[in-house]
Amino acid sequence: MTVFASQVKSLLKQFASPVLDGLGIYDRQLRKMPASSWTIVMYHRVIDDAAADPFELGMCVTRRHFREQLAYFRRRFSPIGMSEAVRRLARGEPLPDRALSITFDDGYLDNYTVALPVLKSFEMDAALFVPTGGLDDDTPLWWDRVIHTLDATGEELLLPAELGIPLSGEPLSLGPWKRAETVTRVLDALWTLPHDTMLEVLARMERAMPAVRRVAPVARRMDSRQVLAMHQAGIEIGAHSVRHSNLNLETPAVVRREMQTSRQVLETLCDAPIKGFAYPAGWKNADTEAAARESGFDYAVSTISGVNHPNSDIFTLARVGMPDTSVADLKRALVSVIQRTGTHGKS
Ligand SMILES: [Zn+2]
Repeated sequence: MTVFASQVKSLLKQFASPVLDGLGIYDRQLRKMPASSWTIVMYHRVIDDAAADPFELGMCVTRRHFREQLAYFRRRFSPIGMSEAVRRLARGEPLPDRALSITFDDGYLDNYTVALPVLKSFEMDAALFVPTGGLDDDTPLWWDRVIHTLDATGEELLLPAELGIPLSGEPLSLGPWKRAETVTRVLDALWTLPHDTMLEVLARMERAMPAVRRVAPVARRMDSRQVLAMHQAGIEIGAHSVRHSNLNLETPAVVRREMQTSRQVLETLCDAPIKGFAYPAGWKNADTEAAARESGFDYAVSTISGVNHPNSDIFTLARVGMPDTSVADLKRALVSVIQRTGTHGKS
């Protein structure tokens, strides 16, 4: 996103969305959503402290906004669990009018400590897609190491060529106005590398840019006891691969192993079938979709932005990423997804 576009978005969030919502403009648009639509919303982290989200990369929602968003979903949609919705569609049964399912990716600890009590207070189901690699080693997810390194460094510039980051050679600014854009560019570039190469580049970054600033600690993940506690609390646990690599870059054998191993680990942990898969970071293609079907999952969710329909392909289900904003701006985000994509889950 350009700086100008992000400024426009920020103004919309703060000022325009509440005004347009007050005029009923979003509600009029949202009333046109077909009763048969199935909205799947996507969260990553739910946080109490804004310092936990230094670059506002769209992965964090505050507890207050999360609460407001769930209250809105309760009022305007029919919440339904992922597996239950898939089961009904497989039998040709209708979903409740304007069905809505809640999903979380990546298994962050705050899903257990912050989000779970809020979900319970609204009696809402959710599905949680957890990568199984390093679950009990307190190993951070790799992009959180990137975020933490670039948040805590005292360096003003990042030198992609020296670090092996595949970006054109010029130095990237880590100054206050540019650092979020730099982090986004670095992460996008790292996703294009084979996983082991990426980890080498990341280790090089950490050595070259030691922490000198006091910042929020690196984001923590749930361990397997907490994942089991979520399962026992009624949260559906889904697979999200082992290493959370870009599956489009992996061999077919590795893709299958990532899917099947993560599924088996979670089935053993929960002593229950694991039905859903979330493509890591949404990377998928015809081969990974086929692998998900053949690995015995009942459905797979993507990060394609859209709202689903009873005839949507249940191995490329679209989702709507939740903004860290008020309900007024959440409605704007939903309207914009529907206007852009319709309700067929296509992007
Ligand atoms: Zn993920």
